[in-house]
Amino acid sequence: MAKIVCVLYDDPITGYPTSYPRDDLPRLERYPDGQALPTPEAIDFKPGALLGSVSGELGLRKYLESNGHQFVVTSSKDGADSVLDRELPDADIVISQPFWPAYMTAERFAKAKKLKMVVTAGIGSDHTDLQAAIDNNVTVAEVTYCNSNSVAEHVVMTMLALVRNYIPSHEWAVKGGWNIADCVQRSYDIEGMQVGTVAAGRIGLRVLRLLNPFDVHLHYLDRHRLPAEVEAELNLTHHDNLESLARACDVVTLNCPLHPETEHMINADSLKWFKRGAYLVNTARGKLCDRDAVAAALESGQLAGYGGDVWFPQPAPKDHPWRTMPYNGMTPHISGTSLSAQARYAAGVREILECFFENRPIRDEYLIVQGGHLAGVGAHSYSAGNATKGSDEAARFGK
Ligand code: NAD
Repeated sequence: MAKIVCVLYDDPITGYPTSYPRDDLPRLERYPDGQALPTPEAIDFKPGALLGSVSGELGLRKYLESNGHQFVVTSSKDGADSVLDRELPDADIVISQPFWPAYMTAERFAKAKKLKMVVTAGIGSDHTDLQAAIDNNVTVAEVTYCNSNSVAEHVVMTMLALVRNYIPSHEWAVKGGWNIADCVQRSYDIEGMQVGTVAAGRIGLRVLRLLNPFDVHLHYLDRHRLPAEVEAELNLTHHDNLESLARACDVVTLNCPLHPETEHMINADSLKWFKRGAYLVNTARGKLCDRDAVAAALESGQLAGYGGDVWFPQPAPKDHPWRTMPYNGMTPHISGTSLSAQARYAAGVREILECFFENRPIRDEYLIVQGGHLAGVGAHSYSAGNATKGSDEAARFGK
């Protein structure tokens, strides 16, 4: 029987919810490219419930315990005195969400001698040292597509919020003002702007499709070129390097995974390629950007706004400059963990576990590492190596 350690974010400070604003979720048939939604044999939760926090347990306890497995759920994940570190030596499987990532570093792999699989309940497995997973023959799987469209909605919302100066204007209303000039002195229309995405995978392409009706000019950069008919349909300009995309665009969004090729792609040098007053939206991963270079670009006016929901490390220390830098539209890491998305990735994790325990193949599109190699989506979208360096700083949160 296996031991599964599951790291989840804390319950709401008001306690685990006893009711919700809505009674159900819309039923989706398929993802936009035809991929099937998760297909577990059963689920033990009501879609729409809070599943990603400790008391939600991803809806997995009944299934795992009735099959004789040991299931440990905790939010304590950082530092040598964490519950995660204590439970690792005899863990077979570690599950965590990118919103509250269990950083699976090489040191942790060395402690987890029985580890066979690391599951990302969501998308983006950069919190696992993929090189260590390859070297230790540990499978890494994520629930591909589960929240790609959720994130794309957040990207478009953030772009509009920054360009139209929505957040400060809302604050004026809340504090009793009617300061129209204060609100609009930084407010523009997005119509007619040049908007580009770094990566046009599931999220990036969805962002392009959602933006098309705004009558903007669309650009993209990806190591895999989109089919010619998609480029024609959306009138896309393709760029083969970041400098070319940045020089052309008023608004840029990052939608590639974090891996050694993409780490710190936005830095003091590459920010010089951007038009003065460009907007940058990053819901992909915090470490795609150099933290201090972004804050400095907002101070200098090189960037007119920066928004998104991803930080490094997570949780971000209380003094992380992105909490207080000017013209930011930051939230904690939430875009991919709406209640709608949670229902999909909880079902996806259950599907992955069922496959693992019943010796059935895990869907290729869920695989990042298997058999000592990048596999599935991992082979398409990642490069081998390690992007977890510096994650130990997460232990500073709350101290
Ligand atoms: P995807 O695999 O469908 O797309 C990733 C794309 O990135 C691929 O098209 C790939 O070719 C491209 N890419 C990889 N390396 C590149 C490089 N060096 N240069 C240019 N393009 C490159 O994945 P997706 O569903 O679109 O998700 C993308 C990323 O978004 C995830 O890996 C994750 O980091 C992030 N994400 C964030 C949240 C959130 O809640 N904020 C949720 C889901 C995903």
